[in-house]
Amino acid sequence: MPLDQCEAIILRTENYGEQDKLVVFFSREKGLVRGLAKGARKFNNRFGSSLEPFSSVRLFYYEKEKHDFVTISNSDLLDSSFELFSQIKISRAFAYLAELTEKFSPYREKEELLYRLLQAVISATKSGQAIEYIARYFEFWFLKINGILPDFDRCQHCHRPVKSTSWLSTEKQGVLCPACAHDNKLEVTPVLHQLIDWMKKNSPACLPDLKLTSQDWKNLGKIFQAIIIFHLEEKPRTLDYLDF
Ligand SMILES: [Zn+2]
Repeated sequence: MPLDQCEAIILRTENYGEQDKLVVFFSREKGLVRGLAKGARKFNNRFGSSLEPFSSVRLFYYEKEKHDFVTISNSDLLDSSFELFSQIKISRAFAYLAELTEKFSPYREKEELLYRLLQAVISATKSGQAIEYIARYFEFWFLKINGILPDFDRCQHCHRPVKSTSWLSTEKQGVLCPACAHDNKLEVTPVLHQLIDWMKKNSPACLPDLKLTSQDWKNLGKIFQAIIIFHLEEKPRTLDYLDF
């Protein structure tokens, strides 16, 4: 069996048997892959400690025919995210981003944009960016990369440009203007429109100069999450632990 290698971001791990770890990772070359890291839970094991969530690693693995899982034989830690996970708010947000990535991504399909998005949000979080912005930024680009970002600029019923407030309609894949909206629950206020426009053009490292309350961040989250739940047909489990 030839030994293969890839650059990857660890999404999550699970204990497996007495000494092994099940590792879900997103690789630059192959997208979402699951693997078994043999002996990774042995005491004081450098191999095991490199496999922490959102660490960047170079993984060495081989594949057995007809097996979904690869066997990971070793890893080099490129960049640890260990410090981030001492903060509960950040670790919960990243568990959510990992669940989205795992649930939406086709198995073993290269997705360079998503790989770069994961790298960008990890790096911005390490530089101290507000986690509320990171979570919304990821949701926005995640929807865009998956081709399910609604049109926020034009009413999906009368097709007129939306100038101020509008309301999301998940079924119509976009927003409705005040004249056409009947279900006025998920309101896209003018400041949220501005925030969405900002995220289109900027990196997660730069926060916009907008007056945003904690309720604004939550409301934008509810809008993005309504689209996610509509397409996933279930609520991501990790959303229960996200309180922003
Ligand atoms: Zn309309």
